[in-house]
Amino acid sequence: MDDIIHLLSDAVANQIAAGEVIQRPASAVKELLENSIDAEATQIQLVIKDAGRTLIQVCDDGKGMSFNDARLCFERHATSKITKADDLFAIQTKGFRGEALASVAAIAHVEIKTKRPADEIGTLLQIEGSVVKEHAPVATQDGTIISIKNLFFNVPARRNFLKSDATEFANIEDEFNRVAIIHHQIGFTLIHNGKIILQLQPSNLKQRIVAIFGNNLKDKLYPIEQQTDFIKISGWIGKPENAKKKKSEQFLFVNHRYVRHNLLHFAIESAYNQLIPEGHHPAYFISLEVNPASIDINISPTKVDVKFQNDRLFFGVLNASVKKAIGEFSLVPQLDFDYNQELDLNNVPQNAPLKVPTIHIDPNFNPFSSNKNHPSAFSKKEARGIQNWDNFLSSIKATHVEATPIANNPVELDFDENAEDKLPSVESYLIVYQKYLVVALQNQLLVIHITRAQERILYDTYLEAIKNKPITVQQSMFPETITLSAAQSEMLLEINDEFKKLGYDFEPINHNQFAINGTPSSEDENGDIQAMIENLLDDYKSNMMSYSVERDKNLALSLSKQKRALIKPLNNVLEVNAFLQQLFATILPSITPSGEKIYEIMTEEAVNKIFG
Ligand code: ADP
Ligand code: MG
Repeated sequence: MDDIIHLLSDAVANQIAAGEVIQRPASAVKELLENSIDAEATQIQLVIKDAGRTLIQVCDDGKGMSFNDARLCFERHATSKITKADDLFAIQTKGFRGEALASVAAIAHVEIKTKRPADEIGTLLQIEGSVVKEHAPVATQDGTIISIKNLFFNVPARRNFLKSDATEFANIEDEFNRVAIIHHQIGFTLIHNGKIILQLQPSNLKQRIVAIFGNNLKDKLYPIEQQTDFIKISGWIGKPENAKKKKSEQFLFVNHRYVRHNLLHFAIESAYNQLIPEGHHPAYFISLEVNPASIDINISPTKVDVKFQNDRLFFGVLNASVKKAIGEFSLVPQLDFDYNQELDLNNVPQNAPLKVPTIHIDPNFNPFSSNKNHPSAFSKKEARGIQNWDNFLSSIKATHVEATPIANNPVELDFDENAEDKLPSVESYLIVYQKYLVVALQNQLLVIHITRAQERILYDTYLEAIKNKPITVQQSMFPETITLSAAQSEMLLEINDEFKKLGYDFEPINHNQFAINGTPSSEDENGDIQAMIENLLDDYKSNMMSYSVERDKNLALSLSKQKRALIKPLNNVLEVNAFLQQLFATILPSITPSGEKIYEIMTEEAVNKIFG
């Protein structure tokens, strides 16, 4: 019998290889843009027709190619970027596998016009399904123009798999953005069907992000910056209160390459634990720079996956850096920051109102300016004060509006006894829908979600009680008893000590039964305590499962949720002032510990705008 094995022709081999590298128009876009970047272009233009089905053209002002290179670049394993396998561990370029152009040429009609700045004349090369049709000198500008027409003309299966133009173009935009964000020093233009979709001037990272995602992102980002001897982290992360249900504004770059990495993604998202509601995701644009030898980028043909030598280590640093960035730039410290021990709750006075530190505010302070006078140089104490109520009020003249007290359920929140000694900073207020406290400041309208604010105040108070200043237990003469499930009793026993510091004295008496020997002195526990404890334990359990919250924080969180609706209504201007003082002296006045937004500030301008 005859031998049956034979070598595939280059054209067929390239077509097969193309299946891995070029799956859709967007993959070709990525490869071409990356080639232009590797060619050190400063301006790159991407022209698309029919979502890439008819034309993908990239025009750059980079190095260009010689007459021979213009032919060679379409061969498989033809690259100028590496010569030996060792070079893989020192990769500085986007490409290195030398297969993108060979792949594209196997499945499309490709034309290249290229010229090196030093050359008199450029080169034209046309290639269709790996067959060279034209190779000649041509007059052209410096740099390279590469046009891909009729993608997948000879691979009908691929062509049939393409989705709608809208979807394919969305994919192209994604790839374009991934490249354009991290290469912000390069100018980019994106044109689709003759229309300019994006025109991006060379800029810094923040400006680039805003240019792509819109101006409204401008004030919603905190800078992140961290350098150790093995990693440099830089970029911008979204403020917790702006977290969204979609993940479309999440970008992680390693050595200037967009990558996917589940563990590092988790390192970033988990730094927001407790700060954003479940199912929401923060925006992030984070760039990691590491020694190329410590990563492997060559694990998938599209080079979008990356393997770290020691990803646990990177996890830790990234997670801590994100937490730190949230803490420093929300201008108030975070509860969860282990290394911020000195500013933990020890700094938060126990009883309301918390004393508001007076500090000097620099009106020109801009956390986003890149000048060296970095806000992180602020001491943590100063940072706390920036968002306090006095500062908020520096020039307040509240307009008169009619005050409507809310009717609500009892239970006293310790309002400032000495409030009378102070001049009230707010003279009038409005409570609307029994839910929001509205205060008109000089040129801002502050709308506060009252129960959420109360949850925040309670949480801070409870956590402080557990850690430092226990709440006194008011012993009861005739202890009530409660009966729980076995699991609930076990949990209650586990947190009984902490509960005692919150003023509750539960004594196990029988199987799954507890006597309530005492409740907090300050509170009138006339509600259904059995139901309250059961709800609390449920909540505690789900917090424990969904984000392994520490025991004391979890208890403070669960109890403040139970109690937030039971606070005495705000009856007069003194109480409102005390309430505002308390809120703005908490660790994070803008978000509840469970991640809900507490207040919104509307500028006078915005209000005026409503009326044109
Ligand atoms: P790789 O990028 O992995 O080297 P490609 O197939 O993408 O492989 O490109 C092959 C070679 O063609 C590159 O190494 C580079 O030398 C050259 N090349 C491709 N695109 C350009 C361009 N826009 N400008 C200059 N040279 C280019
Ligand atoms: Mg390439």
